[in-house]
Amino acid sequence: MNKFILWTGILLPVVFLHACRQGEEPGSWLKLGGNTQGTTYNITYLTPDSTNYQEDIERLLTEFDNSLSTYKDSSLISRFNRGEGDIIPDTYFETCFKCSEEVTAATGGAFDITVAPLVNAWGFGFTEAAEVDSALIDSLLALVGMEKVRMSGGKVEKEFPGVMLDMNAIAQGYSVDVVAGFLESEGTANFLVEIGGELRTRGHNPYGRPWRVGIDRPVEGLQIPGADLQAVVEVTDRSLATSGNYRRFYEKDGVKYSHTIDPATGYPVQHGLLSATVMAGDCMRADAYATAFMVMGFAKSRDFLLAHPEMDAYLIYNDEKGDYRVWYTRGMKKIILEGKD
Ligand code: AMP
Ligand code: MG
Repeated sequence: MNKFILWTGILLPVVFLHACRQGEEPGSWLKLGGNTQGTTYNITYLTPDSTNYQEDIERLLTEFDNSLSTYKDSSLISRFNRGEGDIIPDTYFETCFKCSEEVTAATGGAFDITVAPLVNAWGFGFTEAAEVDSALIDSLLALVGMEKVRMSGGKVEKEFPGVMLDMNAIAQGYSVDVVAGFLESEGTANFLVEIGGELRTRGHNPYGRPWRVGIDRPVEGLQIPGADLQAVVEVTDRSLATSGNYRRFYEKDGVKYSHTIDPATGYPVQHGLLSATVMAGDCMRADAYATAFMVMGFAKSRDFLLAHPEMDAYLIYNDEKGDYRVWYTRGMKKIILEGKD
């Protein structure tokens, strides 16, 4: 744990890190930070001519919110959820929707963006929480399922008025890809883009080394990312996303309710998987699969990962005896610097 580690989630002002040393690519490192999507972003990149992309990036992030933020009344997704006619998807909506369909199919429905009515009822969405009983859950389950939303002929339509979408489990990761894509289109070959803890790297860090990233220890109530690390990994030209139920949950009558909902039962998940960190080529898939694993639980996620060697993950869980454990894929093992067990 030293200065090379990126402490994710810390708000940083715009600062020049340093000009490059002799023998390195010419240019200077720029660090940008700010707020978006109810969280923070941090972007570090090498620029040959000190170009500050903050305005362009903020514009992209606003465009992104205008499409996919359920917290913005005028967004495309909010208008769809309210049942306004003729919702014409933009690229952001279309890309996230298509990828969601893909992940839903691959995970047997564990990941499902039509869980919105359930997320709302349980108090983690964009409406007031409901008085939940099994009759309500049954009625809401009738609104869940990707087959109840159609995207064709340049329109998105729903089967029943109550069908709603929640892309919060995938959109943040995708927004990282959007910003990374922008930097790449500007010819930036070395960068780290992090939004709310989901991140994507390219090339090397300001010290000419692979980017180093901390994985949080999933301690209940831990609100400061990076304050207590489980492991440190080196991430090169890949994306990393973490889901866990240690930050967003509440307790009622001694029962813990997490913000991850099992679309099969309609109830918040209750199992020993504490956090899932997924590494993938793009951050959108890393984000979606991290959430899917939180629904699937440890054993199913491990089996899934063993059957999909192209994907890497670091899982932290309590076993049947309640003992704290970690499990990770071979690809993950190769990049772990500290904290293997
Ligand atoms: P993340 O932090 O990426 O795991 O996303 C969690 C958020 O995704 C929750 O706060 C909900 O808005 C939404 N969500 C909950 N359960 C699911 C699910 N089974 N599939 C897709 N999204 C979900
Ligand atoms: Mg996610």
